Amino acid sequence: MAVKVCKFGGTSMADGNIIRSVKRIIESDGERRYIVVSAPGKRYSGDKKVTDLLYECHKKLCGGADVKECFAPVRARFESIVRELNSGIDIEGELAATEERIAAAMSEDFTASRGEYLCAKVVSLVLGATFVDAENVIFFRENGELDGERSYKAIREACPDRSALYVLPGFYGSDPSGKVKTFSRGGSDISGAIVARAVQASLYENWTDVSGFLACDPRIVDSPRPIKSVSYKELRELSYMGANVLHSESIFPVRKANIPIRIKNTFRPEDEGTSILPITRYKPSGNVVTGIAGKKNFTVIFIEKSLMNSEIGFIARVLEVLRRNEISVEHIPSGIDTMSLVIASEALTPEKLSLITEGIREAVSPDTIRIIEDIALIATVGHGMSSSVGTSARLFNAIAAEKINITMIDQGSSELNIIVGVKNEDYEKCIRAIYREFFG
Ligand code: ASP
Repeated sequence: MAVKVCKFGGTSMADGNIIRSVKRIIESDGERRYIVVSAPGKRYSGDKKVTDLLYECHKKLCGGADVKECFAPVRARFESIVRELNSGIDIEGELAATEERIAAAMSEDFTASRGEYLCAKVVSLVLGATFVDAENVIFFRENGELDGERSYKAIREACPDRSALYVLPGFYGSDPSGKVKTFSRGGSDISGAIVARAVQASLYENWTDVSGFLACDPRIVDSPRPIKSVSYKELRELSYMGANVLHSESIFPVRKANIPIRIKNTFRPEDEGTSILPITRYKPSGNVVTGIAGKKNFTVIFIEKSLMNSEIGFIARVLEVLRRNEISVEHIPSGIDTMSLVIASEALTPEKLSLITEGIREAVSPDTIRIIEDIALIATVGHGMSSSVGTSARLFNAIAAEKINITMIDQGSSELNIIVGVKNEDYEKCIRAIYREFFG
């Protein structure tokens, strides 16, 4: 039987009325059998997410406050959700037990995980579904990485009936000593992908508060076009460059198993959303460009040396300087006698930067070394770009027409992506120019 795994994010769990809509969504499709939930998120701007309340709770607890007092805001959120649901469910016992376990564990990860735990309890009661604790089915290794095979097997064993309905809390699992451990923030997306992989779902639905990906940031361009489908590879490029709808690590488990993802909007379930597909199933939209994304605040270290290309070990010696200084490099565009190291500025203090430039001088004696700060990177992404003639010319002309100076160009070897570096202050203008050229 084909089954879908549905992950609902924090805004889809924010109050009792929304949880009722979620119930309708689940019940309207018999294949929606495995439900993964986040902790309740913000109800309005200025509100606090339950997970943030729990991190605050842990801090206060460590400062010596009483658990009842620290946990009170979280308790109040769940009590109001249950009241709004008005369905006679009772979670008082769970709330009291949670307070006790939080006080006994004194662990940040354990406390933070309780938002998902309690929310999954509530949703399982509302749906009349089986609750499966992530603590018993998602496992981390000693080094903190996911133990995929062990987790997939445990999930299959704990949820054996494909016609039953299961609810699992997202965001956490357990470490080899059995202690609760969380993923990074937003990690329920990863939990959903792990469950989808374990049960070989036909589709991983990720329900959130937007109708999928847009061709660029709506804060920069008014009502950009929605993206109907995107390949895993395109999505990886776009989300690395700041298009944040899904946790970037959540792609890997499903991508390996060729399971498509669909981003859906809980508040507009009729909207088609965005499909994220393996390349074998991906049908190009006919558009040369699929999407545009970018990030500000990079530093470029530009290095020039005649005959760099024939000097054996040149790049290795430069990269060794970065390794010694524990700095990771985002891109390395290069020419015959030049190379640029593009580094996120937040990783660089002025001291680090001078250690690195000194280190490079010593290691490779360049003719020139120049630092260019306050650079924004903009990625124009699309499988269609490799097969259509003149795409780069259109891109560069559109930018030149706005009199924007391009400091750096990086065309990935995948031909899926052209990245340009411009001054931070030109970032928005440049995105608008590219959007107009390819979508306008
Ligand atoms: N509740 C967690 C967070 O706020 C995990 C998630 O929502 O995915 O980061």
